[in-house]
Amino acid sequence: MFDYLVVGAGFAGATIAERLAANAGKKVIICDVRNHIGGNAYDHYDTDGILVHKYGPHIFHTNSRDVYDYLSQFTEWRPYQHRVLACVDGQLLPVPINLDTVNRLYGTSLTSFELEKFFASVAEPCARIKTSEDVIVSKVGRELYDKFFKNYTRKQWGLDPSELDAAVTARVPVRTNRDDRYFTDQYQVMPRHGYTRMFERMLTHPNIRILLNADYRVVKNEIPHRHVIYTGPVDEYFDYRFGRLPYRSLEFKFETRNIEVAQQGPVINYPNENAYTRVTEFKYLTGQEHPKTTLVYEYPRAEGDPYYPVPRPENAVRYKQYEKLAAATRGVHFVGRLATYRYYNMDQVVAQALTLYSKMSGVSRRETVTIRP
Ligand SMILES: Cc1cc2nc3c(=O)[nH]c(=O)nc-3n(C[C@H](O)[C@H](O)[C@H](O)COP(=O)(O)OP(=O)(O)OC[C@H]3O[C@@H](n4cnc5c(N)ncnc54)[C@H](O)[C@@H]3O)c2cc1C
Repeated sequence: MFDYLVVGAGFAGATIAERLAANAGKKVIICDVRNHIGGNAYDHYDTDGILVHKYGPHIFHTNSRDVYDYLSQFTEWRPYQHRVLACVDGQLLPVPINLDTVNRLYGTSLTSFELEKFFASVAEPCARIKTSEDVIVSKVGRELYDKFFKNYTRKQWGLDPSELDAAVTARVPVRTNRDDRYFTDQYQVMPRHGYTRMFERMLTHPNIRILLNADYRVVKNEIPHRHVIYTGPVDEYFDYRFGRLPYRSLEFKFETRNIEVAQQGPVINYPNENAYTRVTEFKYLTGQEHPKTTLVYEYPRAEGDPYYPVPRPENAVRYKQYEKLAAATRGVHFVGRLATYRYYNMDQVVAQALTLYSKMSGVSRRETVTIRP
């Protein structure tokens, strides 16, 4: 008899499984419908021997010391500051928009102070910011919005920014200095030997059994267990009783080239031309040295694996119905991005799982991070 059946071997499932097994001494079985652990952060060596992220580029960044300390037990890190360029009007320009972006786009030499004044002169005041369009146009005006955001968002979501919640672009910073880092978090690192290796170390414990190619709906009656930790889609758990929670998906097309370096930076965004949204060259992320290089092109899709919850008010209402049902379901804890229908970064999911473990075990949140013996 297992104390816990954990559904999903991504960050949420692996963190909680590891803590229950190593910290609380529980017997855990973790199942995943896929043929590998790691969830969407899974990485592997392709046929040419280049380390790639199967479900798109995953960059680790966090301000949480707890999360950083916790994961540091299972991996060494490689310092990595992420940078993104956008292909606009035939130039490759830094994003988020900063002083250099504007100066290079318009051939100007504004100072930070002058750029602030420029933004103020082109920004369109908005009494109440409701949509993604409002967020950007009220900060940088319509021209920069059209060049950098409008079509990218349309491609990514299949919706015009005016139809999307403000939350989608609210997190996008606009800078008046020359900082061209994509993230500003305190910890910006990549697992030195990859995510999958880190997951292997998390889940290698005598109290943990791993079951792959195993759909919870199929195996649940065959595995004797007391409690469930569920990190799959919450609507699926309840047989879509209130209807499906919509997701946006992506198709990834990988391409290996017989050259050492293919593009000018780790990620190039294509807001306007081309059907793909961005192209990532993995070796920048992983630091791997190899005579060839692999790129991945991302094509947004309406159908496919569930990646991004679609942030529209009616979907939030539907999720609330599932959330209520989940809270009333005894013996099952719902955690992670699919189970809570929210876009979370990896560190946020780890934090959510550690908080759940703290509540379940009565151990203080900081103590949940204690190094395992
Ligand atoms: C394209 C893309 C890029 C991203 N880039 C970043 C990034 O750069 N930085 C960052 O911090 N975050 C990034 N993220 C977010 C990151 O992927 C998530 O935060 C993280 O994967 C969430 O972990 P999770 O365990 O909640 O979910 P997942 O990783 O999705 O794990 C859930 C697992 O449950 C399994 N499952 C589902 N249903 C069942 C079932 N019925 N039975 C058994 N198993 C089941 C799934 O197969 C899956 O493996 C990105 C996400 C996407 C889509």
